[in-house]
Amino acid sequence: MITLTFHGAAGTVTGSKHLVELKRADGSVFRLLLDCGMFQGEALRDGSGKDRNRRFGFNPKSIDALVLSHAHIDHSGLIPRLVKEGFEGTVWCTPATRDLCAIMLEDSARIQEFDFAFDLKRAARQGREPQEKEPLYTVDDVKAAMPLFQTIDYGERFQLTEGIELTFTDAGHILGSAAVHLALDDGERAVRLSFTGDVGRYVDRLLPEPMPFPQADYLICESTYGDRDHAPIAEAEEELLRHVHAVCVEQGGRLIIPAFSIGKTQEILYTLNSLSNAGRLPRVPVFVDSPLAISATEISRRYAELFREAVRAELRRDPDLFSFHGVEFVRSPERSKQLNGMKRPCIVIAASGMMEAGRVRHHLLHALPDAANGVLAVGFCAHGTLGAELLDGAQQVRIFGERVPVRAGIRRMEFYSAHGDRNEVMRYLGCQDPAQVKRVFLVHGEDGPRAALKELVVKAGFPDAHLPKRGETCVL
Ligand SMILES: [Zn+2]
Repeated sequence: MITLTFHGAAGTVTGSKHLVELKRADGSVFRLLLDCGMFQGEALRDGSGKDRNRRFGFNPKSIDALVLSHAHIDHSGLIPRLVKEGFEGTVWCTPATRDLCAIMLEDSARIQEFDFAFDLKRAARQGREPQEKEPLYTVDDVKAAMPLFQTIDYGERFQLTEGIELTFTDAGHILGSAAVHLALDDGERAVRLSFTGDVGRYVDRLLPEPMPFPQADYLICESTYGDRDHAPIAEAEEELLRHVHAVCVEQGGRLIIPAFSIGKTQEILYTLNSLSNAGRLPRVPVFVDSPLAISATEISRRYAELFREAVRAELRRDPDLFSFHGVEFVRSPERSKQLNGMKRPCIVIAASGMMEAGRVRHHLLHALPDAANGVLAVGFCAHGTLGAELLDGAQQVRIFGERVPVRAGIRRMEFYSAHGDRNEVMRYLGCQDPAQVKRVFLVHGEDGPRAALKELVVKAGFPDAHLPKRGETCVL
């Protein structure tokens, strides 16, 4: 018997975790976990207010192997915790996913350690018990987890164990992202199960389009933007250049660009590099002030063969697409502090994208009071974040407890989202003969988008689309 149980990203966009159990005729069982993601944001707390990330819903010791679709924390973030609780199997993923996980999980562990220490201090001050007895995991837990990672290239057919063959195809979502294809055989029945992971874009950016994949009997498909069409995006180079000119040349100010360390920062650098190669970028220094972004950029350079064809062709003329005359990668906190006091025009790219954490807050603290400066928001800022406050036109904000007047110009431009919209997801599923797919499980979406995508899936001829609940088990 082959079963599938949904332990996360069922009705939410975080906590991706799906358990495949293969019960063979001889009585032996193989338990394969697809993704081990962290719950984030509102999905983090269960009904009783408890941290959902501290209880898996299964015994980590009983899991034989883990297959990871990509490095985003909502898909990989609980691997160190799984290992800490006794998982000893192998984590299978692509080489780029492993390398990104090494830096992202360490960064995540530092956040966990910081949050725990912060709560301890506060609890002591308030004379209460701390919320938790230990951090969710630590940097040492990450060090223990990384040796379990083993890699498989896209397109390689790999016999994971008796009755399970694994293949990855490029999902075009982030560097190394994969859709997972399993050929399962319990000795009585053969079942082909595909898991899309997160689906990328069919637009011109660094990564290629999502690849068509082999015919499946069952599909687990993401639905983040199941009810939305992405707006077409204006020529990114021209728009970015316009903002740089306005702030750095005309006003003689600093342009602060808050950006996620992985993905967005590389896209911005790539765009600035193209402008620089064309001799169009004004001669202002560009600072990348984020150690995680610097590590992620190094990894992107190493895996340049994963970029789309047009980008690889550019590499033959310019061997480094993320670096150009005038760019400085800033690792040390001392240098970062020096930049805060700098008065001449420059561009600073720093995390986090929503301006809630990271070095960008120091830059904003110093830059916001001066009308010559500009802040360029390049991505989605969730309600309640500092980024959203600034975009809403706040006259004054609080940073590190200080009241900061907002005189700098707040600007916005959209870079491509990493997730396909509903049309792109349906185009991706177009590689399948719908009549052969017994059931499509829609995960990784809020209930509204999931239900909307279900309609499109059924309209496309797939006989059955299902919205699994957390903890639900289905027999394949
Ligand atoms: Zn993702």
